[in-house]
Parts: sequence; structure tokens; C-alpha cells
Amino acid sequence: MNVVIVGYGMAGSRLAAELHARDGDLKVVVLGAEPHRAYNRIMLSTLLAGKVAEPDVELAEVAGQGVDVRTGVQVTAIDRDARVVHTDDGDRIPYDHLVLATGSRAIVPPLPGLDPADLPERVVPFRTLDDCRRILAAAEGARSALVLGGGLLGLEAARGLAARGLDVGVVHPVPYLMERQLDPTGAAVLASTLAGLGVTTHLAVAATGVAADADGVRLDLADGRSLAADLLVISCGVRPDTALAAAAGLDVDRGVVVDDQLRTGDPRISAIGDCAQHDGTLTGLVAPAWAQARVLAQALTGEDPAARYRPRPVVTRLKAAGIDLAAMGDPADGPGEELTFADPARGTYARLRIHEERLTAAILLGDNPSVGTVVQLFDRGAPVPADRRALLLGRALGGTASAPAESPALMPDAATVCQCNDVRKGALVACWRAGARTVDEVVATTRAATGCGGCRDAVAGIVDWLSEADSVGATR
Ligand SMILES: Cc1cc2nc3c(=O)[nH]c(=O)nc-3n(C[C@H](O)[C@H](O)[C@H](O)COP(=O)(O)OP(=O)(O)OC[C@H]3O[C@@H](n4cnc5c(N)ncnc54)[C@H](O)[C@@H]3O)c2cc1C
Repeated sequence: MNVVIVGYGMAGSRLAAELHARDGDLKVVVLGAEPHRAYNRIMLSTLLAGKVAEPDVELAEVAGQGVDVRTGVQVTAIDRDARVVHTDDGDRIPYDHLVLATGSRAIVPPLPGLDPADLPERVVPFRTLDDCRRILAAAEGARSALVLGGGLLGLEAARGLAARGLDVGVVHPVPYLMERQLDPTGAAVLASTLAGLGVTTHLAVAATGVAADADGVRLDLADGRSLAADLLVISCGVRPDTALAAAAGLDVDRGVVVDDQLRTGDPRISAIGDCAQHDGTLTGLVAPAWAQARVLAQALTGEDPAARYRPRPVVTRLKAAGIDLAAMGDPADGPGEELTFADPARGTYARLRIHEERLTAAILLGDNPSVGTVVQLFDRGAPVPADRRALLLGRALGGTASAPAESPALMPDAATVCQCNDVRKGALVACWRAGARTVDEVVATTRAATGCGGCRDAVAGIVDWLSEADSVGATR
């Protein structure tokens, strides 16, 4: 069988690797419009902040291992009758099965002075490695920056630029930041934490126009103000890249509509990742994209023809130095009891929703040692401890340390350590038992910590615990 994958991003590259790992004889062609080898898009925020370098964000290359990867090649049309795709370099590539992994594009709002097809040099969206390079080039020698959009990515960009010493202003049309994940009180605490880190927020005000030249950028606001800066980063959300699918007559709603097996209405065409819409939902995150890649590989190689994609609860974490923020579910909505704790002076806010002894939503902002436990309880739908204060405050009254499940020894094997790759503690222990002895070896085998990297300390903690337990002969 000949599988053609359109898109060499996070989903397309993972699918190629999953297919190759299961069937080395399968012919796989990956066509990627970007000129680079696949990279870890979610690490672009960390790259912008200067915490990693470009080589650190490259993803493991599958080219040359039976997988034909062609970069800088855009697929321009799908001929479903002939079962070929056409590319912008004039090629026609046949397929037995076609997978759309075309991702999303950054939305550039229709503002006077902004032509999405011809953006000024100092006005940059934040989606691709080239965008990141352009932002970094514009930030070189700059003193100030504006970010349009106070959602997760806008704030990560703002924090990264502030860490480079720029005065940063964030303009957000909604009355509070990150409205999809936070509530007004939590967002106010976040805004004050950001202010202390050099990021000013301008809330509840829309942008009305942009003027940019070689010297700088001016952003006009609906309240009559004009803000000036050396560069403007646009972070106004993303839109799934569905043009190819729509032109081919596939069912497209907000994304390319797929079933539990990631199939479109054409049994020879599937879609995964940001461009796919499953059960009415767009995911926009890497964990579901990688889970979908695994399910599709199982089905296409015959390893598990009945494999089905089942969405899992989503946990959002802000990747910004000096700000610890985890959000899950919708704490403002739903039945059950609600617990809140706010200490704005210390930048701490916590809100939990508990229904029938299960955690259904949470916001944890600032230093809270229970964050790992809270994420696990939410992820597994496990019963919460009788003393909820341990979760809310990070410690029980009486001053004892964080909730007990933080210790690797007491963590159940089913606890998810790496959310991006869905790696459980049990898999890490099994990897150790199979002979891996360092964090790098465990990471290479299980893929834990290869997504956002936020669980690397937890993985290291488990490896340390296993090592110590072994040295006293206590491993099971
Ligand atoms: C700065 C940043 C930080 C993020 N942080 C997080 C995070 O912390 N956690 C998280 O879960 N998610 C995060 N995300 C979102 C995450 O990156 C996406 O969910 C993920 O990249 C989706 O993978 P994908 O392969 O579907 O799309 P993409 O990674 O966008 O890849 C799609 C690829 O397809 C190519 N393509 C499109 N059309 C064609 C065509 N016609 N022919 C050939 N190639 C084509 C595109 O050029 C692109 O390279 C972040 C995103 C950004 C930009």
C-alpha cells in the first residue's frame, strides 16, 4: 500500500514514524509545504524565550528509512477519481490512502493597514519556525513590542519577548486574559504577575488599525489611543487549513469532518491533527494529534483494524518562565461544589470544581505543589482526597507537604506522566525494568517529555526513585 501524507508538521511527521515503526515495507510519502525538516511547533514559545536553540526543536527525522519526505512541496489539488495529488512543482503523486495533516494557519485580523498576503516586516504572526525567526530578527536591538491577542500563545510570546528585555504590551479585546481557560479573578492575578515581569495588558479594547514602516509600528485602538512599538506580534487564534479538502469535495465544517477512525466521507482519505474535526470538536493541541496518528497507523497497517480515536480530557499549561498556570475543564460551569483561594499579592489563585467526589475542572495559578496531583485526579477521574485543602493550597493544614500522590512511590501505574504522548508511570517503570538507566534512555524509548517538555522533571524524579529503590533492592 502507498500512503501519502499531506503536511509535515507535528501530526504528519508522527504518523510517518508510527507507520514506519509498524510496517517497514509500507511505502510512505510525506509532502510538507514548509522548507524545513519537521520541528516541534509547541517549543517555538520556548525558542522565542531563548531557553532552547533551533536544533533543540527539531523532531526525529523519519526520512530515508523507507519514508520519502519532500519538504518545500505544496499539494495544490486532490484528484479523488484518479487517486493522485498534484503538487506546486508540477508532480502528480498516486496514493492508495491519503492523509490530510495540513494543520492550522494563524488568523490575521482584517484591520486597515494589514494585508495578510503582504505583512510589513515588523508585523509577524506566531505559528511557524519562519515566523519565530522573523520575530527574533525584529526583536534584535528592539526596545518594545506589542502583542495583539491575550490568549495562551499571545501571552507566551509576550513573556518570551519580555525575558529578552523588551517592554511588552498585550492588547486584548476581551475584558480579561485567556478567557477560554481562566475566569476574571484568575486572569486579574495573571495580569498582575505579568506586570511584574514587564508585560502591560490593555484589556477590553479592540485594535482598529495598524501603520508600520522601517522605524516601527503603530497600533490604533478603539478607545482613541495609539500604541507605538518596534514590532507587533499577531496572536489572534488559528483556523484549520481545510482549503484542499473543501476543493476536493470532502465534508468540511470548521475542520475536515472525520469519524472515530479518522476517516473522511471518502474511505481512502483520512484527516488528523489541527485540520480534523472529530465529533464536532477541533482539537488544536498536540496530544490529540499524536493520539490520532497512533490510531490511524494501527488501522492502516492492520495492527488493529478496529482502533478508534477516543478524546481525552485536555489540560492546558502556560509555557512562560516565572508563571505556573494549569487549567482544565470549565470551573465556572457545571454541577458540584466549588472551592476557591486567592492571594493576589503572592500571585496565587486556585479554583476547583468537584462533582460526586471527582475533579471536573480546575485553575491553578502560581506556586501550588499539588498541581501534579490535581492534573492526575482530573485526567484519571479518580476520587479526590477527603481534605480538599491539600489540593487547593498545595498543603494540608498543619503544614505537611504536598499531597502524597506527588511521590513516585505512591503514584499509581495508571497515572499519566506525559500528557502530550500519553505516557503512564507504569510505562516508565517497565522501560526501567527493560534496562534503560538514564533519563535520556527512558525518554528515547517512551517518548515521554518530547512534546512540551513540561514533564521532564517528573520523569527525572521517577528515574531517581527507581535508581534509589534498585540500590536498596526495593524495586518490585
Ligand atoms: C507557538 C505555539 C505554541 C504551542 N504550544 C502548544 C502547547 O503547549 N501544547 C499543545 O498541545 N499545543 C500547542 N500548540 C499547538 C500545536 O502546535 C498544534 O496543535 C500542532 O502543531 C498540530 O499539528 P498538525 O500537524 O496538525 O499541524 P501543524 O503542526 O501546523 O503542521 C501542518 C503542516 O502542514 C503543512 N501544510 C499545510 N497545507 C499543506 C499543503 N497543501 N501541502 C503541503 N503541506 C501543507 C503546513 O505547512 C505545516 O507544516 C502550539 C502552537 C504554537 C504555534
